[in-house]
Amino acid sequence: MTSRPEAELDTSAAAETKTASGDNTRKVFVRTYGCQMNVYDSERMTDVLAPQGYSTTADMEEADLVILNTCHIREKAAEKVYSELGRIRKVKEERAKAGKDMMVGVAGCVAQAEGEEISRRAPIVDMVVGPQSYHQLPSLLDKARQGQKVVETEFDIDAKFDHLSARAEKPIMKRPPAAFLTVQEGCDKFCTFCVVPYTRGAEVSRSVEQIVTEAQRMAASGVREVTLLGQNVNAYHGEAADGSTWGLGKLLRRLSEIDGLDRLRYTTSHPRDMDDDLIEAHRELKSLMPYLHLPVQSGSDKILKAMNRKHTRDEYFRLIDRIRVAAPDIALSGDFIIGFPGETDQDFEDTMDLIRRVEYGSAFSFKYSQRPGTPGATMEDQVPEDVKSVRLQELQALLSEQQKAFNASRKGMTCDVLLEKKGRNPGQLVGKSPWLQPVQLDAPESMIGSVQAVEIVEIGSNSLFGRLIAGQDAADGSGAIPAPAA
Ligand code: SF4
Repeated sequence: MTSRPEAELDTSAAAETKTASGDNTRKVFVRTYGCQMNVYDSERMTDVLAPQGYSTTADMEEADLVILNTCHIREKAAEKVYSELGRIRKVKEERAKAGKDMMVGVAGCVAQAEGEEISRRAPIVDMVVGPQSYHQLPSLLDKARQGQKVVETEFDIDAKFDHLSARAEKPIMKRPPAAFLTVQEGCDKFCTFCVVPYTRGAEVSRSVEQIVTEAQRMAASGVREVTLLGQNVNAYHGEAADGSTWGLGKLLRRLSEIDGLDRLRYTTSHPRDMDDDLIEAHRELKSLMPYLHLPVQSGSDKILKAMNRKHTRDEYFRLIDRIRVAAPDIALSGDFIIGFPGETDQDFEDTMDLIRRVEYGSAFSFKYSQRPGTPGATMEDQVPEDVKSVRLQELQALLSEQQKAFNASRKGMTCDVLLEKKGRNPGQLVGKSPWLQPVQLDAPESMIGSVQAVEIVEIGSNSLFGRLIAGQDAADGSGAIPAPAA
């Protein structure tokens, strides 16, 4: 399942890390594009570099090492990376004039897809590193410093996971209250529009022990909410210490026992892998938040088949019914691709009908665009751009109406909010509701990192506004409770 494409995320301002000896002699600037898995990977890269003397900087001009952690989901992704490299070249030249060195690395899915082509087209690049090779960054940097052009795009995912586990046994830097944890990578589904099986490889799950150890470390470093990540996260099938294989439901139960981890989420899921045990976990676990991102992409059986989604619209409806029986208050989210080859007016109407029936709390929608190397790219009956644009507008209007209705239904409720950071205005904090909506409220800074009972008093266009109910950490991770009578 594709993680939802998001705006470029600059993770370069993370907390400073120190080397084993306490020195911070070099600076690394990491620019992260795309999904949450890339955000997680960027954090891991800075963890791996910390013992080499690197601390993070938000200012590229003072960086000794610049890493672009790229995403291949968006159209013309590679071209955008090349133009960013053009800008970096100028910074590198300025630094060279001042007698300072700067190394440049390209990581992520564009690195995996383009490989050597990147060093050929952009000679300023010293290292091209695919997503499964970040644990090798220190040795790759050494090679690059010796003047070698490094291209490392092997699919040795087990080695990466083993290494990350070893890292987790050492102290990690302080994390924000909500953080990501990769449990699974890659995908075997081969949806005909998607590059993930080609850029991230086959499905591989981390072991239960690796994940539990890392989650315990995260809790010890201040994390209250963990979102488990995987391109197809509910296909998780990790090995436990006794040699048995655990699914995601069982893993969530184990993680819910960790002290300090009040909230659990996971993304992104495929309808085919939503098994009974996972659905049951939504009924049972107080710490599993009532939010589920479950993309369907289209409401037309014909298009679902052409997309190789391996399920029908009726199967999706039945699944949603089962989930809502287990967790009646769940916020459902989805992804929609509009204008897949062969999509007729009737196919589009089937998608609109599906949306009306499901009623989403939020959703992401995109016009189909051809990804080189995928079967969809060479299919006949590509839909004209102007038709896609009109359909997308109509669909987004419906989704936005549903989102507003869902948000409005929270008004007057009291719910637990994890306070994550300072807001724009003095005295304001921003947190997350159980349904993943941003909530703004007045509260002291000392409450950052705590879970508070908050009454939702106003609904904005993108966030909710709340009022603190009690001054103590609610910390039970539960969802909504009825608002007190006026
Ligand atoms: S191939 Fe399909 S299931 Fe796999 S990541 Fe891509 S969209 Fe998701």
